Amino acid sequence: MNNFELPDEVVKAARKELGYELYKALLFEYGKRGEKAFFYLREGRVKKYRDFFVVVGEYEYLVDENFCSCRDFQFNLKAKKPCAHIIAAKTAKLMECYDEYDEYYIDYMVKEWK
Ligand SMILES: [Zn+2]
Repeated sequence: MNNFELPDEVVKAARKELGYELYKALLFEYGKRGEKAFFYLREGRVKKYRDFFVVVGEYEYLVDENFCSCRDFQFNLKAKKPCAHIIAAKTAKLMECYDEYDEYYIDYMVKEWK
């Protein structure tokens, strides 16, 4: 199982604030994906359900610790590196910077499919 723990630099910056230092750390560590993750955080696009984190991009992506439902993660990164959504969800979790929903996302998905 992969483990995409955030590097120290990112953790340190995230403990301070959602600001330039964090942006720099994410960009340095993850390149474009880190930059994207920062914008997800800044725009409040990370949602926490009881079962999963969801990041709202072009679609809603389901993030479960070291897995993401997006194509980038599964095809480009082959699940070996974290995508922008995983980075965003992990950073959001650390900062407690997310919208919390007292529901199960899985229920919501089932409703959508009906
Ligand atoms: Zn993703």
